[in-house]
Amino acid sequence: MNSQTPLRINGERLWNSLMELAKLGATEKGGVCRIALTDLDRQGRDLFTRWAREAGCEVRVDQIGNIFARRAGRDNTLPPVVTGSHIDTQPTGGKFDGNYGVLAGLEVIRSLNDANVVTEAPLEIAVWTNEEGSRFVPVMMGSGVFADAFTLEHALAQRDNDGISVAEALASIGYAGAAPASAAASPVGAYFEAHIEQGPVLEANERVIGVVEGALGQRWYDVVLQGMEAHAGPTPMELRKDALLAASELVMEVNRIALAHAPHGRGTVGWIENYPNSRNVIPGRVKLSVDLRAADDVVLSAMDAELKASVQRIAAKSKVEATVEQVVYFPPQPFTPTLVSAVREAAKAQGMTWMNVISGAGHDAVYLARVCPTAMIFVPCLDGISHNEIEDAEPGHLEAGCNVLLQAMLQSAGVAA
Ligand SMILES: [Zn+2]
Repeated sequence: MNSQTPLRINGERLWNSLMELAKLGATEKGGVCRIALTDLDRQGRDLFTRWAREAGCEVRVDQIGNIFARRAGRDNTLPPVVTGSHIDTQPTGGKFDGNYGVLAGLEVIRSLNDANVVTEAPLEIAVWTNEEGSRFVPVMMGSGVFADAFTLEHALAQRDNDGISVAEALASIGYAGAAPASAAASPVGAYFEAHIEQGPVLEANERVIGVVEGALGQRWYDVVLQGMEAHAGPTPMELRKDALLAASELVMEVNRIALAHAPHGRGTVGWIENYPNSRNVIPGRVKLSVDLRAADDVVLSAMDAELKASVQRIAAKSKVEATVEQVVYFPPQPFTPTLVSAVREAAKAQGMTWMNVISGAGHDAVYLARVCPTAMIFVPCLDGISHNEIEDAEPGHLEAGCNVLLQAMLQSAGVAA
């Protein structure tokens, strides 16, 4: 390799592989339904492992079904430079979410093979089990076990709506591996994940590469507002304990709290249950979800305090009882500055448009960042839409992101003389 002709990946081969994998679970609307640990997931895994072996990789599967395809380096005592993502999808999923990160890793290895480049450290492609969490919770299960966010036993014992456990599902598709599912047992030198943005920011700013500096922290809550059901006619306004009226104010308040913490504050009430939900009954009880996100834990804690104060104020004013229970907490996760800047420099060196971004969504990389140096590369997706069958991305953007991945991995792994 010389600096005049930098190594490039093959964009057409990457695209063709994406389209080939997308046939497994293809939906009529052009999307993909390949739910974790189903027979379609097995077919996707089988296709990936066949391709990885054909590219000269050694494949191992760990106890939570994560797949690792390893390309030897010159010094195989060094921890590998790993890239990857997931190939399970939402029921109305697309062709790119997750699949792009896995197949971009494969394309990097195929391109290095074509150019006869040997890296100093070995390279690996990881396929993390059940990132989407639509059949089994928790989400990001395989990477979560690997990073010790929860135990292997806990993950294996989770059951789907039909009562089938993760352990049973893994065994039935032949992916209950023997390798320990743990970063402590298999240290990672560096982890990169390429992913579609799943949001509209890159497109709106007309940039091709998102240099991801970290992921937003998240706090999720269940809120219950307890008032009193009463007849809509005979009950004067001033004597009511209207739980939905209180909830309406709270929805506005969640929005206000997020706006007050721009640019990264987010606040969403996405689910609501109104009881008894009858036309001529004053609502007696409302349950709703609140999702708060921020890039900084101090800000997220301030938003948490504001939410609780608002709930108390609204409850007193509306004469309802309120409870707020936090059900999920992910701290904000910054990525590793040296790797983030390797991604940025790779984009610059190749003359691509780029911008710094913060991921609003969870990704396997967010767990990996707890146990090894980590960075992510985003590319635009059409209209910012994903978790939808119409999810789409431009071949040129996917190719650009893969070229950035290649350079960032080479820089981390080193090229053998
Ligand atoms: Zn994903």
